[in-house]
Amino acid sequence: MAENEKRSIADKFIDAGAAVIDFHDRTQQKADLKCLQAYYGVALFLHNRRDFLHVHKAKLLESFAIIVLVAIAVLAVYNYATGYEYSYHGRALGYVKDQEDVIRVLDITSAELSKSHDAKIKIEPGSDITFKRVVTLNVSIDDDDTVLKRLTYLTNMRADAYCIYIDGKNVAALSSKAEAKDVIDDVEKYYQTTRKGWDTTYQKVSITEKLRYAPKSVSLTDVSTRESAVNQLIKSKAVTVKTIEKSKFAEVVKYKTVVKKTKSMYKGDSKVVQKGENGKRVATAIIVKENGKQVTRTNIELKVLKPMVKKVVYKGSKTRPKTAPTGTFIMPVSGYSLSSTFGYRWGRMHEGVDLACGTGTPIHAADGGTVVRAGWYSGYGKCVDISHGNGYMTRYGHCSKINVHTGQKVYQGQTIALVGNTGNSYGSHCHFEVRVNGSARNPMKYVNRKYR
Ligand SMILES: [Zn+2]
Repeated sequence: MAENEKRSIADKFIDAGAAVIDFHDRTQQKADLKCLQAYYGVALFLHNRRDFLHVHKAKLLESFAIIVLVAIAVLAVYNYATGYEYSYHGRALGYVKDQEDVIRVLDITSAELSKSHDAKIKIEPGSDITFKRVVTLNVSIDDDDTVLKRLTYLTNMRADAYCIYIDGKNVAALSSKAEAKDVIDDVEKYYQTTRKGWDTTYQKVSITEKLRYAPKSVSLTDVSTRESAVNQLIKSKAVTVKTIEKSKFAEVVKYKTVVKKTKSMYKGDSKVVQKGENGKRVATAIIVKENGKQVTRTNIELKVLKPMVKKVVYKGSKTRPKTAPTGTFIMPVSGYSLSSTFGYRWGRMHEGVDLACGTGTPIHAADGGTVVRAGWYSGYGKCVDISHGNGYMTRYGHCSKINVHTGQKVYQGQTIALVGNTGNSYGSHCHFEVRVNGSARNPMKYVNRKYR
């Protein structure tokens, strides 16, 4: 019985040893060949010794001792030959002898990274860091310092963040929920402005969109600081801050312009009959704004400090007759040569210009108007005067023939007379004058220019 018991124990021990070897065989495909060979050696030894053991039962215990020693030796070799490859999110970083060698620096690393990146970073074994048992005979084993460095210089690290969702869209990731809320507070505050001279109370400040905060593991580079998140949200207009304010403020009331049509003036003519003046008042109003832009304004009280004065403009509606003055003079003759200019000549004032050209050349009215003289006028000889209104008059002297009569309305360019040499004249020419309220002006300064 005792022998049978011993035998079954021996069987179990052998089977267990084989199982261990088999387990390593199955799970540690990358284990060092030498190491495996050692295991196989033991297995072979055990198998070879099986019959022997059965026969030499007396030496069984001694054999057990040998087996145990060999097993311990094999395990020692195995431990010596293997270690762990550690990876961050699948990216292999290096090798350590024990998983603990990495795990014990994770807390320090997390704290350091959190500080330097201003984000809550937590590196967790299992989810962030994974281990793989490998043969480490030909690789260098990282010490604590190296592990720390490898983890610290990681790029594209994951971080636990709190995200702001606007209408379901992730718009910013912050290191904590409190910070995420601060960001929204800051954005809301940004639109609550204080203006000089304004008495404002904000009655309601809200985000128009659906706002939600939720934790999320994000890439470290996606974690924003409070300041940058605030700036980004304002710049991108990802959120709409609706403010309802009650404000009391002084404001300028810009004058309005009223245009009145009148038949007493020609089309195209206008006249300001009342100058506009800006008013001033104190307003109390409820103003609704979205991201600082006014949406509605409801006046509660308006206190006028200075009334606004409307600008009143008359605009002509009467059809302009052909004979109405255009406001610009044209040269009365063409193909002339200027034989005498305006000004003093031989000690006498020459009150016009002499436009020399052949007798019979048509003389055109410089502008539309009414003929106020048509006949002999002492030294001017045969002479035509045309009134253009507003004190403006033109004169044409020394004509050979007059085609118009006093009181006749003429249009600009109409042939009113023909060039001649009548009156005090020495050679065929048109003496042309421009007079304003009776006084002579240099015609060359008026022709082809707006005179009124
Ligand atoms: Zn003259």
